[in-house]
Amino acid sequence: MKVKILLVLLSIIGVNTSYAANWSYSGANGPEHWGQLDASFAVCETGKQQTPINIQLSQVKKNSSALPIAINYTFNKDKLTETLNGETTFTFPSGKLLTYNGHTLQIDVTDAANDDAVFWQNSAYHLLQFHFHSPSEHLVDGKTYPLEIHFVNENVRTGKVLVLGVFIAEGKKDNPTLTEIIKDAPTSLEQSNSIDTNIVLAEHLLPPNSAYFAYMGSLTTPPCTEGFQWIVFKNPIYASKQQIQALAKILQDNVRPVQKLNGRVVKEYKV
Ligand SMILES: [Zn+2]
Repeated sequence: MKVKILLVLLSIIGVNTSYAANWSYSGANGPEHWGQLDASFAVCETGKQQTPINIQLSQVKKNSSALPIAINYTFNKDKLTETLNGETTFTFPSGKLLTYNGHTLQIDVTDAANDDAVFWQNSAYHLLQFHFHSPSEHLVDGKTYPLEIHFVNENVRTGKVLVLGVFIAEGKKDNPTLTEIIKDAPTSLEQSNSIDTNIVLAEHLLPPNSAYFAYMGSLTTPPCTEGFQWIVFKNPIYASKQQIQALAKILQDNVRPVQKLNGRVVKEYKV
């Protein structure tokens, strides 16, 4: 009975689930072989809308009309609700689960009644989790950044997923939010720590200028599910060299190589 309940829970959690199948970022179970490791991973090889990609600036379609993206990660209706464009300050309450699952360092947003959402093109997508890649999975004109954050959001009505990608570049100062995350980061597999302090998400983990690239893609890990809306911010946020090294040590090159565009068009929006 317990097993059944667990299975039901796992299927509800969906993209939050870490799959038991044995895959890795190198060797016999590496990205070139993901499509053959499990029948449910086939789209990793056969898919035509896979992520990540190399964003070639000369090929990007620039849109003159604005398409705003509003990020309202609010935990308390009485608290502030601000958009990415403004001087944003929203915080994660304490008690977030920080896990190293063998593939990435992930913060799960577990509040059953959370109102945290991204609003884009008349749809709301609720934040499920965010996690890190070292170095970046997306490239810009072939250039890699030291780190990339993925904020995974889901439309609870349609099940559609929107992922925000944020590059992290090296700066002179420590990033205060990353300090909290690194401090509480688990070092062993499947270990979960709670984050005991409020962490400020937008102010330090999202770029102040929200120009972005948009395209249709996939999960960058097996089962490589397609139909994901990707929003990759053009401008990076910053972290110190020490912080980048600390995260790189935990993440250990958890990067899928760039995938073919197959005719997809990347659009750029200024907001
Ligand atoms: Zn990711």
